[in-house]
Amino acid sequence: MSASTTGVAGSGPRPPQRETVRIPSGLLGPVPRDAVVIAGAGCAGLAVAVALRRRGERRPIALLDARADYTDDREWCFWSTDEDPSTRLASTTWRRWVVADRTGSALRGDERTPYRMVRAADYYRDRLDALARAGGTTLHLGVRVLAERPRPGRAPELVTTAGVLHPAVLIDARGPRLDPRTARRARLRGSWLAQDFLGQWVESAEDVFDPTAAVLMDFATEAAADSTTFLYVLPVSPRRALVESVTFGAARTSTTLHRARIEAHLRRAVPGATAVRLVREERGCIPMTEHAPDALAGPDHWRVGLAGGAARPSTGYAFQRIQRSADAVAAAITTGRPARSLDPWRRRVLDRVFLRFLSDRPELAAAVFLRLFGAVDPAVVVRFLSDAGTMLDDLRIVLALPKRLFLAAARDAALHWIDPAEEDPGAPHARVRAAL
Ligand SMILES: Cc1cc2nc3c(=O)[nH]c(=O)nc-3n(C[C@H](O)[C@H](O)[C@H](O)COP(=O)(O)OP(=O)(O)OC[C@H]3O[C@@H](n4cnc5c(N)ncnc54)[C@H](O)[C@@H]3O)c2cc1C
Repeated sequence: MSASTTGVAGSGPRPPQRETVRIPSGLLGPVPRDAVVIAGAGCAGLAVAVALRRRGERRPIALLDARADYTDDREWCFWSTDEDPSTRLASTTWRRWVVADRTGSALRGDERTPYRMVRAADYYRDRLDALARAGGTTLHLGVRVLAERPRPGRAPELVTTAGVLHPAVLIDARGPRLDPRTARRARLRGSWLAQDFLGQWVESAEDVFDPTAAVLMDFATEAAADSTTFLYVLPVSPRRALVESVTFGAARTSTTLHRARIEAHLRRAVPGATAVRLVREERGCIPMTEHAPDALAGPDHWRVGLAGGAARPSTGYAFQRIQRSADAVAAAITTGRPARSLDPWRRRVLDRVFLRFLSDRPELAAAVFLRLFGAVDPAVVVRFLSDAGTMLDDLRIVLALPKRLFLAAARDAALHWIDPAEEDPGAPHARVRAAL
């Protein structure tokens, strides 16, 4: 195995079987009175609790979650430098990545900012241990939040399966809202796509994967007319990989179709795929929309993570943004100042145009992504995708894209911004199509 695939400073590739994380005894106890209550103790809930303690919050913190335990239920991938705080937890690092379609492929890399994977079990353990060490936090698993009841000038009352709570501050970290009403509202104000995916951890008896490169997007799969469809392959060793079928579309994709795409991909792209065995499966759906709810929901009432719209609208990348949104909310709570916005205006504009393009012209997405990854300096693309792009980077990205296509998408996005009611949210975007 190449040295570049082993953990930089983390725990190294490990068997992908589900692992249950031990809960530190220091987090056990009753729900304290007048606590900062965090509803949802997943990625963002744990991040905001740690950030509050780091920023000097002295009130008790109570984390509530419907889950019964913490298992290795997912993994987060992102680009990061060696100095980035999350790098410490990475189990796998790729210094090269591939984007491919039926016509060709681009193999790129950036030594300074590799692509990394953090296993959920490592993340949960790290954050729970940090909270136990800091003291003053309790964790309540198996507690479901049923309703929030508004209280004038104060955080809402929380109705849970363990009783009614009166938080001093309420932070909603319950994950994405995927209900049709939210999607319809978001579509009326702009674009809304579901990033729908199914991943399979597979293992082979022979060396069949190349663990030196992550396949970010392989479009050489049977494409759907109304969505962007690709395979995402993360080999952690020559015999083990996470193979994911991903769709950006207005509707959800069935589990059967995702599985069929993975099977077809393995047959086509992996020699000796008949000997590949399924170890476990994971499923997810992330809303891609520029219409994110505000971090501040009301007096002493906040939202973080996907509940607060932390996923990048045009890509769905969320992990690093969740850490930043959690820190911004913790800073606002401890200082009383407004929360910092995650994105400057020019990123919001670009994301809006990208999202519009993806929802209007999914059949052209493969060619555009191949051009982007093939023609632009990988360091620039990585900075753009990791929210670190400068104005010059953004300009380079725009210049590499097909002008006519993006001008049309930009015009359509702008028109829609001015007059959202003009458009039927379900209808094809006639103006963009007419311009092409
Ligand atoms: C399989 C998978 C893989 C992913 N991979 C990546 C990746 O590689 N890179 C990336 O950037 N993003 C990725 N994401 C997207 C995103 O980063 C994750 O979904 C992330 O966990 C979202 O964090 P969150 O805290 O907002 O939600 P979650 O981590 O889902 O936490 C929400 C918590 O709220 C709890 N909850 C929900 N409802 C209630 C209720 N009523 N009462 C009490 N508790 C409740 C849930 O049990 C859960 O623990 C992935 C998502 C999934 C599902």
